[in-house]
Amino acid sequence: MRKKIVAGNWKMNKTLPEAQLLLSEIDKYLQANSPKCEVIAGIPFVYLENAKAQHKNFKIFSEDISEHKSGAYTGEVSAEMLTSLHVDGSIIGHSERRQYHKETDEQIGAKVKIALENGLTPMFCNGEVLEERKAGKHFEVVKRQTEVALFNLSAEEISKVVIAYEPVWAIGTGETATPEQAQEIHAYIRSLIADKYGKEVADSVSILYGGSVKPSNAKEIFSKPDVDGGLIGGASLNIEDFSALIKTY
Ligand code: PEP
Repeated sequence: MRKKIVAGNWKMNKTLPEAQLLLSEIDKYLQANSPKCEVIAGIPFVYLENAKAQHKNFKIFSEDISEHKSGAYTGEVSAEMLTSLHVDGSIIGHSERRQYHKETDEQIGAKVKIALENGLTPMFCNGEVLEERKAGKHFEVVKRQTEVALFNLSAEEISKVVIAYEPVWAIGTGETATPEQAQEIHAYIRSLIADKYGKEVADSVSILYGGSVKPSNAKEIFSKPDVDGGLIGGASLNIEDFSALIKTY
C-alpha cells in the first residue's frame, strides 16, 4: 500500500524563532498523536540543519535543490550538502520555481535525478496554469512535465519519487480543484506511469494534491482513491491548521 503524506511547504516565511516554535509544535503534536500518514515539513535552507538535529518525528525537506553536483554556482545548494545535513528530501519543480526562476522540465528532471543519486526523496511538482486549464490543455501539460522530468528514470528510481499535482491557479488563491478534478488528473498521472512502468510501479507512487488545501476541504479531496495526501502552503504555517490536516487521516 502506498504512503499517505501530509507535507508542508513554508516557502519564504518565518524567522528563526518562529520556525523553531512551529517545528517544536509539530513535534509535540506528533508525539502526542501518532499520525496515520507520513508528515513532512518543507522548510527554507537556512533552518534545515537545526531542524534535522532537533526533530525526529517527521521528515524534513528542502524547498529546492541544485541540479549541479558542485562548483561555481553561487547561491545554490547541492544534494551532497543536503545529505550531509541528513535532510530527507527536496521539493522539486514547484510552480514558483518554474515561474520566477524559469526552471525547465529538463532542469527539474536533472534535479530529481541528482536527488535520487544522493538518497534524497524528490517531491516532484507538476500542474497547469489557468490559461492551460481553460483551454483544456491540462492533461497535455501534465503529461509533458511528467514525461520529460521523470521518464528517463528506472522503475526502481521512479518508485522512490513522490509526485505533487498542483494546479497553479489553485496555489495561494483560495480556489481549490474540486475533489473530482483532482481525482481525474491524479488517475491520469498514475495511468501514464502504468503505461511506461507497469501497474505495480504506478500503484506504489504517492501522488499528492496541492492548491489551497485547508482543514475544511481536505477530507473530501484526500478521500479520492488516487489522492494520497497533500502539499500544503498557507495552512502549513500554523499548528492548528497543519495538525488538523494531519488528523484528516
Ligand atoms: C504550495 O505552495 O505548494 C501550495 C499548495 O500553497 P497553498 O496551499 O497556499 O495554495
